[in-house]
Amino acid sequence: MPETLCVIALGGNLGDVPDAFRRAREALSDAGFRIRRFSSLIRTAPVGCEPGAAEFTNAALSGFWDGTAAALLRLCQRIEADNGRPNDHAHHVSRTLDLDIILFGHETIALPDLKIPHPEAANRSFVMDPLREIEPEFAEWLMDRTKPGSRTK
Ligand code: ADP
Ligand code: MG
Repeated sequence: MPETLCVIALGGNLGDVPDAFRRAREALSDAGFRIRRFSSLIRTAPVGCEPGAAEFTNAALSGFWDGTAAALLRLCQRIEADNGRPNDHAHHVSRTLDLDIILFGHETIALPDLKIPHPEAANRSFVMDPLREIEPEFAEWLMDRTKPGSRTK
């Protein structure tokens, strides 16, 4: 398969999150994902989590993947599980490591368990700020595409 430039958003608010990000980066590389850029780490207030949830650390990375988006999702889910995230976690709860596929080239994917571009990405500054830092053109494309009235929204 040809390589696709992808963006993955990383987040976490339990344990040593920078260390979890390092392990995620290594595990992605070991699985053949060729990292191109890795953003700065930012600290953000929890969104929609349980009361008293700790601050999040967020970042984004871009890189090249020569498999399918579904295979990349499975890889991300394995890395989340290897880093202590239970499989049956609820949405919007504290977590050690969250890996969301934000972009898979310019593709639109609408499978039951995989939506790309990630539907919430454009509304979340903790995703868009790191994305702008590493892949400004991709960030602009995503914002354009999400504008009201955009055909592909
Ligand atoms: P959130 O990241 O919005 O808090 P979760 O990580 O708890 O949500 O949700 C994980 C679920 O989201 C998985 O079951 C996965 O199938 C689904 N999902 C849908 N689209 C994506 C995507 N683009 N990247 C990662 N997971 C996705
Ligand atoms: Mg997620």
